[in-house]
Amino acid sequence: MKPGRIVVISGPSGVGKSTVVKQLLNQSPVPLVLSVSSTTRQPRPGETDGVDYIFLTDERFAENRDNGEFLECKEVFGRGYWYGTAKTTVTTGVSEGKWVLLEIDVEGALAVQKDGHFPLMIFLHPGSMEVLEDRLRNRNSDSEESIRRRLEVARNEISKSHLYDHVIENKTVGETVWQICQILADADKDGDAHA
Ligand code: 5GP
Repeated sequence: MKPGRIVVISGPSGVGKSTVVKQLLNQSPVPLVLSVSSTTRQPRPGETDGVDYIFLTDERFAENRDNGEFLECKEVFGRGYWYGTAKTTVTTGVSEGKWVLLEIDVEGALAVQKDGHFPLMIFLHPGSMEVLEDRLRNRNSDSEESIRRRLEVARNEISKSHLYDHVIENKTVGETVWQICQILADADKDGDAHA
């Protein structure tokens, strides 16, 4: 069986990653599965444990981290909330021929890349900071302080987008998903050509 591949999607908070990912999982031309990350932050309204994230206590997260269970993990937004990708989810998926999708931040993505996993790296770009700020305000789930911090982090992430294989401006979900499907289909063909 042909092994799968790691696909990373990053982009600033509020760019629309979750919506794109949801649709992409239904339309992907390759057997794509989502790696559900663990986090120590509280669930937002509508989020389900085990589906959106695995919500862990600080103690449990630290235990998993110390046991080397994460492929990568980090404190996002410098506020004490940790996020991490479970090693077994990724390695099992890839060995079963699946393309495992990681929706993670830029530092996490670069850590996976540095570790020699050759992920296919895709960055979702909001187009402008104004568009991003509107989106964050419209979702009504973050405090002013949190929005300010997310915008600060966004500026920093966007400045590293050139390190990705593909940068896509997320104008409409349909168009973005179509572009990512093309990228996946091409990568699958390239894989065949190099096999
Ligand atoms: P949110 O709290 O808005 O769901 O996510 C905040 C940020 O954490 C997003 O940029 C998201 O991509 C990132 N993130 C989610 N899961 C992981 C993970 O497992 N590892 C890393 N490094 N970042 C993650």
